[in-house]
Amino acid sequence: MEFVCNSCDHHHRGADAPWRCPRCGGAFDLRLEVDLRRQAIETGPPNLWRYAGALPPVPPEARVSLGEPVTPLVESTWAGVPVRFKLDYLFPTGSYKDRGNAVFVSVLRAAGVSAVVEDSSGNAGASLAAYCARAGIRCTIYAPADTSPAKLVQIRAYGAEVVAVPGSRAETARAVQVAAERTYYASHNWNPIFLHAMKTLAFEMCEQLGWRAPAAVVMPCGYGSVVLGAYLGFQDLVSAGLIDRLPRLVAVQAAACAPLYAAYRAEGRAPACSGHTLAEGIACAEPVRPERILEAIRASGGEVIAVSEDEILDGLRALAAQGLYVEPTSAVVAAAMSRLAGEGRLEPGTVAVLTGSGLKATEKLVRVLTTGTQVRF
Ligand SMILES: [Zn+2]
Repeated sequence: MEFVCNSCDHHHRGADAPWRCPRCGGAFDLRLEVDLRRQAIETGPPNLWRYAGALPPVPPEARVSLGEPVTPLVESTWAGVPVRFKLDYLFPTGSYKDRGNAVFVSVLRAAGVSAVVEDSSGNAGASLAAYCARAGIRCTIYAPADTSPAKLVQIRAYGAEVVAVPGSRAETARAVQVAAERTYYASHNWNPIFLHAMKTLAFEMCEQLGWRAPAAVVMPCGYGSVVLGAYLGFQDLVSAGLIDRLPRLVAVQAAACAPLYAAYRAEGRAPACSGHTLAEGIACAEPVRPERILEAIRASGGEVIAVSEDEILDGLRALAAQGLYVEPTSAVVAAAMSRLAGEGRLEPGTVAVLTGSGLKATEKLVRVLTTGTQVRF
């Protein structure tokens, strides 16, 4: 396993998994030996370790698992077009972040890491706290002091310590970087191990389709770990001869916070998030690897779509009407599919990735959907 800096090409070998380049502060990519053979996969365990040949190396005894499943790929239709939903909200902590952290925390345990810090008051923090609890790793999560207490309950429940930082989200990021000088910074946004674990999303999807690539994959996009991880996975599958082409990658942002959409449309970098969005899991003003994400989307013939708050709520309702109760961040994919269908561009065989459970957002939905004394979904 070799870490290569995106910016200055500095190479770093070893299992200590630095979170960024020590020379220039740039983001690392990861170079891995990839061995994807159909027979080895199909006789492997019924979880993401069936793709161990394409993952960062972890001895089996160091693997940290909470029983994460191969998530279902459910057939459906959207505006009359046959599509499928990949139910990544069915992981142990209720979000796709477990896909990344099952591997990331395993690598950290194998490397002898005994304590980590991270900044996330949402799904990533909850997932990291759960896997650290399982691994016996001390976990401290930095969060802005004004984060609603309800959002921190799941993190605290797993035994993680929460450090409340006064001020903005940026001040929380600065505080955690100071802490990172003493304690391992387990940043899922920076560390490429998390991205490489996310490749299993692509592997599972293609295996479930009988080793074919879907026509298109529609995904929420904030920091871009789903989009980039899927792209790396589809690339591995093409290189191994298991699929013959990349699917079209469609990244969806909330219009209220859409820096990648602005860059994609060549409107320059948006100044920051211009408004509040229900899709808080992708409200990211400064992605770590913006050029990489756009390269991936363009290489696949894909696109970036930005959807409004009304479209997100409509998407949430339409998914729930099919029995799929997801958080608003995940509903952006439904909004995007409705947009594509309206333009006659929703391709049959599209897969939409549903990343987070609605059960995490019920309290928020009560606030948003209450009129007078009635909650109307
Ligand atoms: Zn560098």
